[in-house]
Amino acid sequence: MKNILIAAAWPYVNGDLHVGHTGGYLLPADIIAKYHRLIGNNVCMVSGADCHGTPVTVEAEKNNISPQEVVDKYYPTHLEIFKKLNISFDIYTKTTTQNHINTVQEVFLALLNNGFIFKRSSFQFFSEKENKFLPDRYVQGICPFCNKLTSADQCENCNKIIEASDLKEPVSKLTKNPVILKDTEHYYMDWKKTEGFLKTYFDTHKDNWKDWVQSETKAWLDQGLLPRPITRDMDWGIEIPKNKIPENLLIENIENKRIYVWFEAVIGYLSATKELLKNKYVDFWFNENCKQYYFMGKDNLVFHTVFWPAQLHSFNTDINLPDVLSINNFFNLEGKKFSKSKGVTISNIYMVDTYGLDQTRFYLASISPENNDSNFTWKDFQQKTNDVLNSNFGNLVNRILKLFKDYDIPNMEPSNEIIEKIKETKEKVCLSLEKVEIKNYVNGFCSLIDFSNKYLSIKAPWKNKENIDEFNQTMIDCFYLLIAIDILIKPLLIESSKKIEDMLNINISNWEDDIISQIKENILKIKRKDDIRPIFSRIEDDQINIEIEKLN
Ligand SMILES: [Zn+2]
Repeated sequence: MKNILIAAAWPYVNGDLHVGHTGGYLLPADIIAKYHRLIGNNVCMVSGADCHGTPVTVEAEKNNISPQEVVDKYYPTHLEIFKKLNISFDIYTKTTTQNHINTVQEVFLALLNNGFIFKRSSFQFFSEKENKFLPDRYVQGICPFCNKLTSADQCENCNKIIEASDLKEPVSKLTKNPVILKDTEHYYMDWKKTEGFLKTYFDTHKDNWKDWVQSETKAWLDQGLLPRPITRDMDWGIEIPKNKIPENLLIENIENKRIYVWFEAVIGYLSATKELLKNKYVDFWFNENCKQYYFMGKDNLVFHTVFWPAQLHSFNTDINLPDVLSINNFFNLEGKKFSKSKGVTISNIYMVDTYGLDQTRFYLASISPENNDSNFTWKDFQQKTNDVLNSNFGNLVNRILKLFKDYDIPNMEPSNEIIEKIKETKEKVCLSLEKVEIKNYVNGFCSLIDFSNKYLSIKAPWKNKENIDEFNQTMIDCFYLLIAIDILIKPLLIESSKKIEDMLNINISNWEDDIISQIKENILKIKRKDDIRPIFSRIEDDQINIEIEKLN
């Protein structure tokens, strides 16, 4: 048994968690967590709401409420979404907990004492009209690299990090007043000191990462890492533990500054594990028998392939480091960028309530944006639901159950062809899941569904009821295939698996090494019900046309 940490990036709690987020990285994290639980590993799946980012304060000002009220309003909706989508976090916490604050301050002080943090004066955006410093995200201007309008800090179009002084024509996002750069003292992370470590880390871990993730990370390391400020002039965020800082290391106006969100939110992986497991958290952070998986969108790449491992190593050289960084591209919706304000969005809860849990999970997984951005379209959703789930999968289950309804399942061995096919598919499926290749995983069990349909059509047992040996052979083969499919869909299609097992009166909750003997055991337990119901239904054109109209 291995300890498996499943760490999903912390979404901002600003009310904008749509199917692009859930499909992009939360569902993949859940599939991998469920897989490791099924094979008997000790899984800890953690994440939480990122409460301190400027997306939260912007939302607060827009609605004339406090950032804390934004957190209180949207945090429960995150929990509801995960419940609805059956995303099985062991803990989904918040960055406002005292436990998280303590852990962040502990890491901050360790890095300061270990010489990785220094103080420096720098220029920061300042609004003379409002007489205050503005965090980068409150400032917009023209990107010096692609010349498009963006928030400061990181370009929303080309994802490049923008130095404050390089942003052209900066104005306040809220008031549109021009802003200037003004001197202020802050703590900086000295990334230069971590470069040697990071080169080794990259060389020893990159084989677990996708090619494009490797090359983007390499580009960051090749260009050399500059110091970056880890505090900001603002009042919403984690306080700097000034009472524990030596006099000579204090910065001016320290009580008006907070630890910057990109530095503290990632520490949530560690603090959430502590919150959940107390002292047992060491199983996932100071134990060689542990593998850490991280899931996120591409905008989070550098914070996880470069900064987070370096933060951890600077904190404690014995701590576990991220093993697999599963980074995805983005979802578009009908060819457009998701945007809540422009109405280009789909609510997770609406999707599941209207079309079903498995239909939603299946579609999002089957178009997982692994190597390119992918495009959610309603027509494609309709087609995959109708053709793959309803016609291929649903009908297969129905045909097998109805065809053999009046016959006892024979106590005999399946044919070698079927044993080989099932073993081979399970191997492929496991390999895909080990490598976090979600689309290949989906293709893996779908190919067994296709095979089973063809097998049943070729054998055509309904034409051949007189040859009882052959009829029985086909029947036992079909039940082996059915149970194999039921087992292999478990990390993704929760309700379908349950419906199949309900009709057979069996209950499978794990994956045994030997799938053939696991199937055999369960076939002996089958007590079929007379009530055979379809597990999916078709989506009609009218319904889909309504969805498309809503977006226009
Ligand atoms: Zn740009």
